[in-house]
Amino acid sequence: MSKTEIVSYEPATGAEVWRGPVADIDETVARARRAWPAWAAQPLSTRMELMRRFANEVRKDAEKLAVMIAREVGKPLWEARAEVDSVIGKVELSIRSYAERTAQRKLDSALQGTMAVRHKPHGVLVVLGPFNYPAHLANAHIVPALIAGNAVIFKPSERAPASGEILARCFHRAGISAAVMQFAPGGPVQGAAFVAHEGVDGVLFTGSANTGISINRRLAARPDKLVALEMGGNNPMVVWDTPKLTDAASLIVQSAFATTGQRCTAARRLIVRDTMYDAVMSEVKALADRVIFGAPFDEPAPFMGPVIDNAAADGLTESFLYLLSHGGKAIKHLVRPHETLPFLSPAIIDVTAMKDRPDVELFGPILQVIRVSDFDEAIAQANATRFGLAASLIGGTPQEYNRFWANVRAGIVNWNRPTIGPSHAAPMGGIGLSGNHRPTGYYAADYCAYPVASGEMEQPRAMIGVGLK
Ligand code: NAD
Repeated sequence: MSKTEIVSYEPATGAEVWRGPVADIDETVARARRAWPAWAAQPLSTRMELMRRFANEVRKDAEKLAVMIAREVGKPLWEARAEVDSVIGKVELSIRSYAERTAQRKLDSALQGTMAVRHKPHGVLVVLGPFNYPAHLANAHIVPALIAGNAVIFKPSERAPASGEILARCFHRAGISAAVMQFAPGGPVQGAAFVAHEGVDGVLFTGSANTGISINRRLAARPDKLVALEMGGNNPMVVWDTPKLTDAASLIVQSAFATTGQRCTAARRLIVRDTMYDAVMSEVKALADRVIFGAPFDEPAPFMGPVIDNAAADGLTESFLYLLSHGGKAIKHLVRPHETLPFLSPAIIDVTAMKDRPDVELFGPILQVIRVSDFDEAIAQANATRFGLAASLIGGTPQEYNRFWANVRAGIVNWNRPTIGPSHAAPMGGIGLSGNHRPTGYYAADYCAYPVASGEMEQPRAMIGVGLK
């Protein structure tokens, strides 16, 4: 990749997928600034109708988009198809959410006349997308931002521009102009330039904590810019008493290894009651041994594909070796069958004996296991992280779940459900290093517009009643 060009490659084969020039930052921002007032002035019903047309365009291109996602980021085709379904589903949810969360309200008061609460768009928003859900997660910001009346500059992940381009074309074919929803390919350099640009009113970011922190730092003296950060996690899953071992193992394997562990909500740390340890871990290992990992279009379909690239596979391998050489005990080794391709097997490692466990997000198929003897210790271990995205309790009593819910610090707290697969009809965000208290999902409407309070009367009415000579 040069400074002026972006190239993406298929993780499963190494073949080139897409090549194109990076966006011109000043031109892109100027075009968006010119376009957004007219877009904001459209009736809300028009913007909503255009979003529905966009959903129809995605329906028409559904298979093309799914195939491209599968090629470009390596996820199995069945999973890429599910991602496209989420893109389509986001439209009706966003329409509902905008109406519910930013509804116009009028309060009548004899003294003050009418107090109206309405929302306005910010202006030009930059959406910085991650690679792991190259269509759905960018779209999860784009659709609510457009409905609210913002112009959007969409900079997809440099590792998935082709998927982003198909998505952008669906907006354009639906009748949303290429100035209101701009496709702006680029990498970190272009991302940082958009963040810092004077003509940009806000940044809607989904990606790693390190990048999120650098954006936050860059804008520390700019409280005028809207910043929504959706970042990573080091998510705990606690297994307590349950007779349903097969179901528990299925939830654990699903949470840790779906999307090859490349989900922000993936379970990274499995915290197991010691009396349950042998039974749980033998079920989990047996199921993980059955996981097929392979190329996205393989038959039979794999459960998981490769990780995004060789650099990621190298990093994960190094991290696994680090854990092993610092007291970790492998329950299932990380295997890389092809040296030059980023396929990795699911891996499980017991890190109970490790003294200083690194609190980092290992964005791949590595599950760390910690053995504990009482419930308070389980909660303390779950909270032993600076992140706070998702947490789940498997088993336990309703009273234990209540304690877990009340004491575990995370934006998603589940019971007998996986850590992954958040509901699109609920807020989706985390605390700590996982986000800046601007959850996306159903609550995206909240950060895409700002509320304006207006006291309104048809005629002026005198107010001063006392203190005059
Ligand atoms: P990343 O941080 O490498 O990149 C995300 C986006 O930011 C890309 O478009 C990239 O080009 C851009 N970028 C990189 N450096 C930048 C900079 N200095 N300034 C501005 N923009 C910059 O993330 P990734 O590897 O693509 O995605 C994986 C990460 O995303 C994981 O940490 C995962 O947990 C997180 N994630 C979070 C959520 C969530 O909803 N909380 C969802 C999915 C993924």
